[in-house]
Amino acid sequence: MTNVGEKYLCENCGGVVLVIEPGLPLYCCGQMMNRVNKDGTVEASKQIPIISEVDLY
Ligand SMILES: [Zn+2]
Repeated sequence: MTNVGEKYLCENCGGVVLVIEPGLPLYCCGQMMNRVNKDGTVEASKQIPIISEVDLY
């Protein structure tokens, strides 16, 4: 679950997303994006992705 104002980072490509609408977890490059804390540190996602890579195609 994402919340408004949170930032998410993709470890793979370095892409950053700012959430403006609450919603489902964000995915990039086939993996769950990590939340960036207000102090700039990145929180590793603890949730296990629901969809497998096979489902993306
Ligand atoms: Zn990515």
